[in-house]
Amino acid sequence: MQELTHYINGAHVKGTSKRFADVFNPATGEVQAKVPLASVEEVSHAVEVAQAAQIAWGAVNPQRRARVMMAFVGLLNRDMDKLAEALSREHGKTFVDAKGDVQRGLEVVEYCIGAPEMLKGDYTDGAGPGIDMYSMKQPLGVTCGITPFNFPAMIPMWMFAPAITCGNAFILKPSERDPSVPLMLAELMEEAGLPKGILQVVNGDKVAVDALLENEIVQSVGFVGSTPIAEYIYGKGCAHGKRVQCFGGAKNHMIVMPDADMDQAADALIGAGYGAAGERCMAISVAVPVGDETADRLIEKLVPRIEALKVGPYTAGEDVDYGPVVTAAAKANIERLVQTGIDQGAKLVVDGRNFNLQGYEDGFFVGPHLFDNVTKDMDIYKYEIFGPVLSTVRAQSYEEAIGLAMDHEYGNGTAIFTRDGDAARDFASRINVGMVGINVPIPVPLAYHTFGGWKKSVFGDLNQHGPDAFKFYTRTKTVTARWPSGIKEGGEFNFKPME
Ligand code: NAD
Repeated sequence: MQELTHYINGAHVKGTSKRFADVFNPATGEVQAKVPLASVEEVSHAVEVAQAAQIAWGAVNPQRRARVMMAFVGLLNRDMDKLAEALSREHGKTFVDAKGDVQRGLEVVEYCIGAPEMLKGDYTDGAGPGIDMYSMKQPLGVTCGITPFNFPAMIPMWMFAPAITCGNAFILKPSERDPSVPLMLAELMEEAGLPKGILQVVNGDKVAVDALLENEIVQSVGFVGSTPIAEYIYGKGCAHGKRVQCFGGAKNHMIVMPDADMDQAADALIGAGYGAAGERCMAISVAVPVGDETADRLIEKLVPRIEALKVGPYTAGEDVDYGPVVTAAAKANIERLVQTGIDQGAKLVVDGRNFNLQGYEDGFFVGPHLFDNVTKDMDIYKYEIFGPVLSTVRAQSYEEAIGLAMDHEYGNGTAIFTRDGDAARDFASRINVGMVGINVPIPVPLAYHTFGGWKKSVFGDLNQHGPDAFKFYTRTKTVTARWPSGIKEGGEFNFKPME
């Protein structure tokens, strides 16, 4: 059995806590590795190493720091297949999707190559008589990030690339379910020229997270994961005086207007609802057709597409649309919620229960499900399922449809499918959700915009990546300077005592 490590001060280090978590191959259900769960002492050691290393790194000029990112991009491209393979093996997503996971992280690294521009600061010449004023953007010091299982390459890179280019040291506490790719990323950053101790990986669970939150040296905490944990980390991190941003769960609605191209809408829902087995915070989990006639046409288009979905292991290559979910517990939770949907009166139009894949009977596969006639009071509507389950809520008007998305406690992403510019424009303007798609089902902003939801999908002020990341990972210092009159007033030729 492979025993994974931490990555501290430029080396793989075995865990000393004697506590481990199982890392599964979700396609076979086998335990393929053990990951160490760090103790408070191991976390403190990593923090001290980071603090010592950060002083020199913070003093390196931004252009040189950006060059490390440039080299890192080259290494990510060189090792793309290797990273994607390791990612699929632990997460279960298809190989193509795993490459997308690396790619969307890589794009944020590319954006960080522009750090010198982002870190330039402001200058007022002549703020008063003989006075200049300038603002500098300085690193925070030791920063950390706690990341979810569902994007084990992308989300760590969204955090550590801007943190490090801003001159900080970063401690990554990745998900214990798929920790191998984060460890590989730390190695690659050093190969790219990053000094030891600036990017470290501490594997662990709540013990490690609490140790980071309580450590006085740690200046900021980034978190992405489920809403209850996001809320906990935000509260505790703020109480310990840290700068904190936490991104939580989602329930993303896609509104389908009567004038939408129904083939396009159905194709979009297949990818956005079932891609990555629905384990995306930007997955569409609720379809809201407007009018019964629209709903009937949409369901008619969806059913054959869903029934044709190919579910299997990533090793089957492009023959597979989506893979298993991450753990047996995740599968059991999805099945439990599906049962509540049936019990509470929703109509199960496509039944993915009892899905069985020959040769992979112990894998965590879940067949695709489609519900119709879902209502607001049902558990499958209220809670994030994080599985291949799409719920259809029939709305009788556009106002009812937009109201559903607005009233839901989550506000990560949403979409509208229509040919009508007026409806699309109204939707984009009024909706209280952070990321909006117009005929685009998964509107994930590119690296140079920012990513973040509203409502219970976020705790904190600034979004991820884009210009917000450079704000989050720097502190502003403003200098007011006045110089006494000097040599330009005329040379002094006689020796005079100082006055
Ligand atoms: P999770 O909340 O279970 O775990 C996230 C991280 O928190 C992991 O590193 C985990 O070790 C740690 N953690 C878990 N329990 C903890 C506790 N009690 N105390 C301290 N730390 C704890 O989330 P997950 O299952 O890994 O990821 C799926 C969730 O993440 C979904 O809810 C999804 O919507 C969300 N997500 C959100 C975004 C976003 O940008 N909003 C992006 C991706 C995923």
